[in-house]
Amino acid sequence: MDIVFQWLLLTAAVAAGWFVGRSGQSSSRADSVISDEESVRDRLQFLFTNYSDQAVENFVQSLAVTPDTVNLHLSIGAQFRQKGESDRAILIHQNLLARPELPSRFSPQVTYELALDYLAAGLLDRAEALLQELMGERNYGLRASSHLIELYQREKEWDKACDVARTLTVGAEDPGVNIQLAYLTCEKADEALNQDDRWRAQKLAREALEYDKTCVRATFILSKLQSRQGNYKAASSAVLKVFDQNPEFGPEAIDWLMNLEREHGDVSRLGKKLRKLYDNWPSTTLLLALVESVERSAGKSAAAELLREKLEVRPSVRGLLRLVEMTGFETGGSTDEGRLVRQIGQLLLSDRPLYRCVNCGFAGQQLHWLCPSCKHWETVRPIQGVEAE
Ligand SMILES: [Zn+2]
Repeated sequence: MDIVFQWLLLTAAVAAGWFVGRSGQSSSRADSVISDEESVRDRLQFLFTNYSDQAVENFVQSLAVTPDTVNLHLSIGAQFRQKGESDRAILIHQNLLARPELPSRFSPQVTYELALDYLAAGLLDRAEALLQELMGERNYGLRASSHLIELYQREKEWDKACDVARTLTVGAEDPGVNIQLAYLTCEKADEALNQDDRWRAQKLAREALEYDKTCVRATFILSKLQSRQGNYKAASSAVLKVFDQNPEFGPEAIDWLMNLEREHGDVSRLGKKLRKLYDNWPSTTLLLALVESVERSAGKSAAAELLREKLEVRPSVRGLLRLVEMTGFETGGSTDEGRLVRQIGQLLLSDRPLYRCVNCGFAGQQLHWLCPSCKHWETVRPIQGVEAE
């Protein structure tokens, strides 16, 4: 097709559709927003399906910049970014910013879009500079700050992330920001712990609890510190605070507690405490810990009996496997049926995720304090149910 004719068609199809869509709004404002958004999407889809990326890019570069066409420029730029064509999106947004005819009220929006392009392209220094420029801006300041925190988290620049997060607490009490600040402070505490700077680690973990008193990670750090100083009893009782903060992390606390007691304490003395915890916050890990403690203090048959009784009420595959193992011991050797149950149970559990993000559903076998997928703190938690906790 003749290139000039193709251009004319493209310009007419998009621009005409665009302006008709903009001017043909219905009386209801809500309806008009929806239909406008839908028709924008339709027209963009038409554009990107029927023309090459290069043709679309040339078209948008040649399109005049007026208050009526800025949104078209922005939509096409965003579409390129979503398609993974960050370079083209960057060109469109840079071109917009360079045009003196761009109405000044659009500058923050274009700057924000360009920052998102840079983030998508991995040009973090440039993204950082633009996002900093936008901090405090009326419409885009908040979003820019969130992206900036995410960027610093990605770079493990915890101090800088804290500085930005702190600006968000000024004049507004946002529990989400406090949780974020608590966890960012825990990252710093963890670094101090790795360098064996115990004084600083303790100070930071306490600071984290001031931001958010339910921050379980700070409790784990404080318990770890007690253990490093040889205060194993204090470490054991410190970690149990997790049940008051967020009992969903109880299984993690029990794992740590049992390790401490096996190495430095006495598992058999935990029976009463574990029983009380199990009555309030039952989990498979807690039940197995209780059974281990009873086995040490009252013998294998009492422990197996307790396990059988608890599994009737709250069944779990891990619990069943333990029972099969214990019963095998009782009868003086594993039966064929016992071996089969064990084999099938292990198959059921192999490759099962142990943790899931309550915000985005990301699942894995490792506990991440920061969800690798949605970048929320403390949302990845032990999975509940027959095959898990
Ligand atoms: Zn998530």
